[in-house]
This record gives sequence, structure tokens and C-alpha cells, in this order.
Amino acid sequence: MKFSEIGEFGFIESIKKECIASLKDVIKGIGDDCAVFGPYSGRVLLFTTDMLIEDIHFLMDKITPYQLGWKAIAVNLSDIAAMGGRPLFILLSLGIPVEMNVELIQDIYKGMKDICEHYTVNVLGGDTVASPDKLIINISLIGDAKEKEVIYRSGARPGDKIYLTGNVGDSSAGLKILKTEISPPNSIGSHFIKVHNEPNPLIETGRIIATSGLAGAMIDLSDGLLSDLGHICKQSGVGATLFRSKIPLSSKLKLLASRVKFNPLDLALSGGEDYILLLTVPEAKTHDLELLFKDKRPSPLYLIGEIREKEGIGMVNDDGSTEEIGVKGFNHFIS
Ligand code: ADP
Ligand code: MG
Repeated sequence: MKFSEIGEFGFIESIKKECIASLKDVIKGIGDDCAVFGPYSGRVLLFTTDMLIEDIHFLMDKITPYQLGWKAIAVNLSDIAAMGGRPLFILLSLGIPVEMNVELIQDIYKGMKDICEHYTVNVLGGDTVASPDKLIINISLIGDAKEKEVIYRSGARPGDKIYLTGNVGDSSAGLKILKTEISPPNSIGSHFIKVHNEPNPLIETGRIIATSGLAGAMIDLSDGLLSDLGHICKQSGVGATLFRSKIPLSSKLKLLASRVKFNPLDLALSGGEDYILLLTVPEAKTHDLELLFKDKRPSPLYLIGEIREKEGIGMVNDDGSTEEIGVKGFNHFIS
């Protein structure tokens, strides 16, 4: 069988069972934003890793080396945020083409150093090897949390409300601009490119949600709203209904869409790389959650739908009709 037939998620599903030699202290292995190990005096360790490959995850001429370093760490921090954890330390491995300038790699490190300082994370080690052709960056991030505070993908229940902690679609619009699929004036476009190239992981937001104990399930949006909500639904054995008019789009995105003619909702639902949090909350706890975020600090909070028993994802249109929509997001190997 070819990878193009099985896809990223099919492959991960197929190796899942063989990956655990002993279940001792493994609270969560494959299948969430982080693996969870422990507990040690009431705390657990959180593990996440991501690999970025030139020309697949980034294009050297579309992102500055500084931004690339920042983003490589940011996407891992976002997975720790999604579990409600606090980041601790990093192992950082690079595959570097031999002809690459040392100064460029040092600029990547500047971006990494700044984001690590901002979130008080230490780089404790890694590996450096020669790569035949393309730059490869692999980050492993270890964090921790109180065992009881960790929020998994599997905790969503029918009737829970679904919330987002920010707008969706701006990052994906930035990618469209970088790929010159759309060409707005610089004054409009630069916002989207910055959102795409310099994501800010919502560690503080994740911590507030985790310590509140109000959320049932949580995930960060990396593959796209529908795809990532789909992960929560699959892990929780439920489905979801979204309200079309409630999907939060920035005013900038609406303006851009009206200028260059595309449907902003398509980017919001399937675009990806938003790196905000999606959480589900039992109805009885929604009031408390909304109180927590009433000042929109450190993030805004938007109610976008609810969890239902029936599998799949439905969309309630503005006229009240409901349609079933497929789960479409980024999946490596399947285009
Ligand atoms: P995210 O988008 O949150 O980074 P992924 O979709 O990349 O999550 O991964 C889903 C799950 O599969 C995670 O638990 C991850 O650790 C696991 N996983 C991905 N690739 C592999 C692999 N090659 N071997 C073992 N586990 C993997
Ligand atoms: Mg994630």
C-alpha cells in the first residue's frame, strides 16, 4: 500500500497499537496533542514533537529565518497549550544542507531564543546532521501539568458547547497571499502574512482554562477547524453542530474577502494553522467560562456550536436549515 492511499492519519492509526511496550505510567500515548506520562506527586509530563521540512512546511523565500525559528517552537508550544500544560524544555534537531549559510541558521536560532525566553523554556539539547538538500527542523517539547488539570481530546459529551479562543482564517489567508493565489495591496496583506509566519501560542489561555476545570475537551487548531474538531469528535465518540453565523472571522478577513472575492468561511473551516484553542464545555459550566473571559483577556472567547450524539459535523445555516459537511483539513500524503 502507498502512503498516498493510507494518509497521515490512517498511518498513525495503523502503528498506534505496536508503539506501547508497557502501559506503566502511560496515561495517554498516541492520539492527542501531547502524550501524558506519570503521575509524579500529582503532576504529569507532557510530550510533543513536530517536524518542519523546507518546501513542505515552509518556503525559504516566504518566511524570514527569524520567523521560521519562532514558528517552529510556537507550533509545539501550541500543543502544550492544548492540553492546558506549562512548557518546560526543548530538544532541537536540525538537518542542514552543507551549502547553507551559518548566519541563516543563527538567525533561526535568534527567533527560537526569543520565543523560548518569552515563555521561559530552556533548550536542553538536540542533534545536528547534514541533510542532502532541504533544511529539516525537528522540535521535541516537554511540559507538565497537574494530573487533574490536563484536558484531553476525548472529553466531549453530547450537549457540550463548543468555543474558540480567537478568529479563524487569517493565517490561511496569509498563506494564500504568500503563494500569490491572491494579491491584495501590501497595506492589507501584511497583517495576514504576519499571522501566518509568527503565530502566538496560547499558553496562558490554556492554563486559565485548565485551572478552571470547566472544559471537557480541548485541541489547538493546526490542521483546520473542521479537521481538528473532527479529532475531538472521533476521540470522544460524538458529533458536532456548528452555527454558520457564529464562526469568528476578523474584520480584516471580511474586508480582504470582499476585495479579492473568496469565501472567508472556506478558509475559516478548512484553512488551518490558526493555533488558537477549540474547547468543549458542559452547558452548566458555560456561564462560569464566559465570566472568566469577559474582558477578552488573554484571549477572546466565541461560542460556535455544540456537541451532538450523531457522528459527523453539521452546519446550521442562517435560515435555520442544517446541512452535513465533510471533514476537510490538512493531511500529509493526501492532497
Ligand atoms: P498535532 O497536529 O496536534 O501535532 P498530529 O496529528 O501530528 O498531532 O499527531 C496525532 C498523534 O499521532 C499524536 O499523538 C502524535 O504524537 C502521534 N504520531 C504522529 N506521527 C507519529 C509517528 N510517526 N509515530 C508515533 N506516533 C505518531
Ligand atoms: Mg495539536
